[in-house]
Amino acid sequence: MQDAAAAPGSLYIVGTPIGNLRDITLRALDILKTVDIVAAEDTRVTQGLLNAYGLQKKLVALHEHNEREAAERLVADVAAGKSVAYVSDAGTPGVSDPGAYLARRARTAGLPVFAIPGPSAVATAQSVAGVGDGRWLFYGFLPNKGAARRKALDGLKALPYALVFYEAPHRMRECLADLAAVLGVEREIAIARELTKLFEQVHVCSLAEAEAWLAADDNRCRGEFVLIVQGAAAEAPDDQALRTTLRVLLAELPLKQAVALAVKLTGEKKNTVYELALELQKHGHPDDHPT
Ligand code: SAM
Repeated sequence: MQDAAAAPGSLYIVGTPIGNLRDITLRALDILKTVDIVAAEDTRVTQGLLNAYGLQKKLVALHEHNEREAAERLVADVAAGKSVAYVSDAGTPGVSDPGAYLARRARTAGLPVFAIPGPSAVATAQSVAGVGDGRWLFYGFLPNKGAARRKALDGLKALPYALVFYEAPHRMRECLADLAAVLGVEREIAIARELTKLFEQVHVCSLAEAEAWLAADDNRCRGEFVLIVQGAAAEAPDDQALRTTLRVLLAELPLKQAVALAVKLTGEKKNTVYELALELQKHGHPDDHPT
């Protein structure tokens, strides 16, 4: 296992800790140590990080207000043979943070862009929440204003994936209220707070209970939050259409054949069709007979 020194004329997008400074990777340290320029979302924050690891580097700023101009300068530096690392304040650049534009500009300029992966709050929360079936949609920050937030949630309501949001502490109460109002109170939510830090906490409850849980202790409103909300329940198969198809087929064919044909015609699962066929054969209800 060799040290990974930065190569000339390369851009490195470097993930950094989201709380616990020991979560930096060896490769991130190698690259930060050996690049010519470290570009940062906030140079003061990154100065603190570099100090913690005993690194002294030239720092330049690239944040949401100067992203375009700063990216042009850095791309020119890389094109001139310098090695550049980009870090955001915490976690992975480009995840609700600047960095994506710089990576894109360097790539379209034909320059090598390397990922130095590290922590991200979304993946960290997902790894411990246990909500959903493993498929999730990362939304990031919802709009700040209530009406816009509810409209955004309305557009997500029918998706069968867990929904992952970042939220600021002072908006947590109204956000939880809107989640319950728009997505329905039965869904499960994981409230993941201060991950990897001293007061790390992950609470899982229904959306009906979430606001009360938060309000029960002032400390629960503090810090940084990831919210993971269970996705929409899978739609029940179109039972009536399936029944009608099966009734017609069962009137003409043996059960096995009727089931096989109904599966082909409706695309439903074989087990579902088979069980319904047995039920229809056994207890044929007056409503189920073709008119
Ligand atoms: N780039 C970062 C990443 O990869 O996760 C995210 C940056 S975004 C500006 C900051 C938001 O991420 C916070 O407001 C919070 O929602 C979430 N976050 C960051 N660190 C966190 C932590 N330690 N625990 C919980 N949420 C965190």
